[in-house]
Amino acid sequence: MVDFFMPILDRQNRAIDYLRVSVTDRCNLACTYCKPRTQMRELPHNEILRYEEIGRIVLRAVALGITRVRITGGEPLVRRGVTDFIASLRDVPGIEDVSITTNGVLLEEMADALRAAGVSRLNISLDSLRRSRFREITGSDAWDAVWRGIRRAEDLGFRPIKINVVPVKGLNDDEIADFARLTLDRALHVRFIEFMPIGSNDRWHRDECITTDRIRAVIESALGPLEPYTSERWAGPSDNYRVRRGQGIIGFISPLTKHFCAACRRLRLTPEGKIRPCLLSDTEIDIKSPMRGGCRDEEIDRLLRLALELKPERHYIGDGETQGCRRTMSSIGG
Ligand code: SAM
Repeated sequence: MVDFFMPILDRQNRAIDYLRVSVTDRCNLACTYCKPRTQMRELPHNEILRYEEIGRIVLRAVALGITRVRITGGEPLVRRGVTDFIASLRDVPGIEDVSITTNGVLLEEMADALRAAGVSRLNISLDSLRRSRFREITGSDAWDAVWRGIRRAEDLGFRPIKINVVPVKGLNDDEIADFARLTLDRALHVRFIEFMPIGSNDRWHRDECITTDRIRAVIESALGPLEPYTSERWAGPSDNYRVRRGQGIIGFISPLTKHFCAACRRLRLTPEGKIRPCLLSDTEIDIKSPMRGGCRDEEIDRLLRLALELKPERHYIGDGETQGCRRTMSSIGG
């Protein structure tokens, strides 16, 4: 019998219990720093894992100790059938939580179905609170749709709702305090993520990355001192705070200046079926080809274990190393 709930350890003795599954490389936005319009090549449909294939990998991963799954992309909500797929994961013994990361464009219309599918934890990426700037960054006029999606998610009782912002110098860094203000009277969790060298390296420049220390200083000078906040059930990579009397939470994710590799509990599954042990390393293990060649479950288990073997102790970006990874975030799964 499979022994569920026993976390698997990697070579660094990290308990790996979290799988990020990218269901598509397609996205309905084209954010300048994430999926530049010059890199719009998309995978042919037959190269993308079918839901049955993803489901089989997830089942094997759960048998090895994965308990939490996050669905991402590209934009996961553009893939047909995604809510049914999520619902199919909900009943898998051993899975404690299925969450999703979305840009929110289709959220208003899909929020009910996501809730019915068992999703309660929602991450929404949003880099500007201004319509015109949103258009400049994403190439889309969907700001109002995203905002309505956030409102709908609040009304439906999704908790937590995390708004992820990547402050980039000269792009949106003048909105840091405005994003933090969202937490004053709403139970939102606003998280600031350091801009990482992912994808084409000509886009990332060190001086465009606003460090967590800098972001925090901007917020404190606008809203006063931040008070540490620690009560999340699943402690993630975010350092969390509250503004005094604030309803929501302000989080900082600092992959560059305070890397959290020692606490990393993740594996990733890319849309074309590669297991990726670390976001910031290009090592990947092909799991689709053996599966399509008719391999047994034992071979999938072996490849998942190999991914743990190959999970690096840490990344070195920020220590003078600037080469992150070559694939864009939207093609890997953010
Ligand atoms: N479409 C979904 C969404 O928007 O949340 C999921 C995929 S998207 C690639 C996931 C996240 O990756 C977004 O929040 C985006 O801002 C972030 N991201 C993309 N490139 C990044 C980079 N170079 N550094 C930090 N975050 C990045």
